[in-house]
Amino acid sequence: FLNCRILLPTVTLKPTKVTMQKGLNVTLVCNTSGMPTPTLNWATCKLNSTYEVILTFISNLRKLRLVNVSSLDNGCKITCRSENMVGEAEASVDLDILFPPVISKLMDAISDHHWCIPFSVSGNPEPKLSWLLNGKPVEEGPFIRTMVHDYSEGEYHGCLHLDSPTHINNGKYTLLASNIYGEDRKAVFAHFMHEPWNGELKSAFFVFDTGPSSVISNDDDSASPLHHVSNGSNTPSSSDMNADAVIIGMTKIPVIENPQYFRSTIVQHIKRHNIVLKRELGEGAFGKVFLAECYNLSTDQEKILVAVKTLKEASENARKDFHREAELLTNLQHEHIVTFYGVCVESDPLIMVFEYMKHGDLNKFLRAHGPDAVLMADGQVQQQAELTQSQMLHIAQQIAAGMVYLASQHFVHRDLATRNCLVGENLLVKIGDFGMSRDVYSTDYYRVGGHTMLPIRWMPPESIMYRKFTTESDVWSLGVVLWEIFTYGKQPWYQLSNNEVIECITQGRVLQRPRTCLKEVYDLMLGCWQREPHTRLNIKEIHNLLLNLAKASPVYLDILG
Ligand code: AMP
Repeated sequence: FLNCRILLPTVTLKPTKVTMQKGLNVTLVCNTSGMPTPTLNWATCKLNSTYEVILTFISNLRKLRLVNVSSLDNGCKITCRSENMVGEAEASVDLDILFPPVISKLMDAISDHHWCIPFSVSGNPEPKLSWLLNGKPVEEGPFIRTMVHDYSEGEYHGCLHLDSPTHINNGKYTLLASNIYGEDRKAVFAHFMHEPWNGELKSAFFVFDTGPSSVISNDDDSASPLHHVSNGSNTPSSSDMNADAVIIGMTKIPVIENPQYFRSTIVQHIKRHNIVLKRELGEGAFGKVFLAECYNLSTDQEKILVAVKTLKEASENARKDFHREAELLTNLQHEHIVTFYGVCVESDPLIMVFEYMKHGDLNKFLRAHGPDAVLMADGQVQQQAELTQSQMLHIAQQIAAGMVYLASQHFVHRDLATRNCLVGENLLVKIGDFGMSRDVYSTDYYRVGGHTMLPIRWMPPESIMYRKFTTESDVWSLGVVLWEIFTYGKQPWYQLSNNEVIECITQGRVLQRPRTCLKEVYDLMLGCWQREPHTRLNIKEIHNLLLNLAKASPVYLDILG
């Protein structure tokens, strides 16, 4: 009667988990039951470890002994199968072999979209990976990072990714792989780029000015904004060496005198008694700026509000420069360039008179109309409405229009930034300053010498590396201005120190897309930030694109009440 009983097989495999260091031994025991008595078989992956099947006297018990287990068997599945006439059953265990890291592959850097130094590493537990460049730890971040792409055949395969590396990244890369059982290291040399400047240029960039006499020298010219270039060329040539200087703000800069501009320029002189100061608006490096009433300036109004800029000390040279700048400003007339009315030179201080722009500089304006306005308001100012996308486009379009004009006049601004733009009524924006705001915004500038302050966060690689300023470098700055607008006035690269900014820009990194920015606008920024100056968007194209985008999204001007 008993013999007639039939039972499906059951099977147990012990231990149920095998976690062990490589080189040790382990015995797996498989036990089965069933009627009739099932047969037992082992199935394994292709084992690298030595193994033996141990038969026992008891037919429903089998042992498998692994000797000197190999790390290559990590992850291998071992199965015990039991079968009789009525069915089958099986039990499995995965081998978890612990072993120190082994770097099997570290290859030369390859470039496709990014650069990649490929590696393959094994180890259990998964090794921690880190890198040395020329013996010093590589700090990983968004631009240099280790990425493991897949795990196959017992190995982690990945890359050290480098985003636009330059000569600074050249060198010996050592990969360190470690876990609690040990460490492995391998090195490879990587060469990404030749050093873009020679020692001479490098020292020219970091040289310290010695004193006021050097300010007018050519060495210093690139530190100063608004460079007027002769012959329609935008690139300062060696003939700039003997250039004269003008004061732009406090800074004297060389200017190639173009007879077309200066021969017939008549600067308007305003009588001191016609200027009645009302209050201080701010202080630039140039001197104090006041709100004033100016009488008899226009025929249809008795008095108008103006902004007057004072020149603190006026040596003979400074006076000459002052007049020359006044001529230059007199010749710059455009609806998106702040209007220059004239000078008052009867007595000290010397004064320049500009149209008054009610809402002050654009950077402050953006911050006051952004999400952090409460933080900036010192508790006094009531919160103002946030700028909309269309208002941002409207602002951007106007600055671009001003830049189209400057480029048509062969002027290179060199210091285009929102702090140098002014906001008037009805969201009217003008390029309003040519470098006088350095004290207030001193953190926006990088001091490379006693006097020389460079707005590096707004500068393209060629301006940083070679002090080359052109209409194309102004286009780069315009891209940064767009970024400022769409971030409500954030400082570009606010998270980085000046030295880090220099490194980032020269390595080819660009600012990230602001959260509130349309793809079309960010594409425009990217078009301004092409590394090669001649591949950047043309200022006219930029203006047209912005104009079209602005037209497609009508502006509601009630933000200003
Ligand atoms: P600046 O010396 O040009 O940096 O000017 C100092 C401060 O005066 C800035 O914060 C501006 O907001 C303000 N300012 C300069 N020019 C004008 C202007 N034309 N209209 C109104 N405010 C101005």
